[in-house]
Amino acid sequence: MTRKARSKLHQDVCSVRLPGYCEICQVKYSDQKTHVQSESHLQFVSNDRNFVSLDLLIQRRSSMDAFLQLNGASELT
Ligand SMILES: [Zn+2]
Repeated sequence: MTRKARSKLHQDVCSVRLPGYCEICQVKYSDQKTHVQSESHLQFVSNDRNFVSLDLLIQRRSSMDAFLQLNGASELT
């Protein structure tokens, strides 16, 4: 494969629309790239308060049990 052909293939792969589901916004999207640039998604991810639990987990280097307790989940055992 020539360099030009590889470059074209890379462009084609990168331009493919990837449908899926955003667990943050809890919505289905038809194009991942467009969704992650949407106002509602950016608003959520730019709000530090939405990541308090995750930040605490990282700071404490907690176990999975501590994470589940922090988020109100009961133990799985
Ligand atoms: Zn989203």
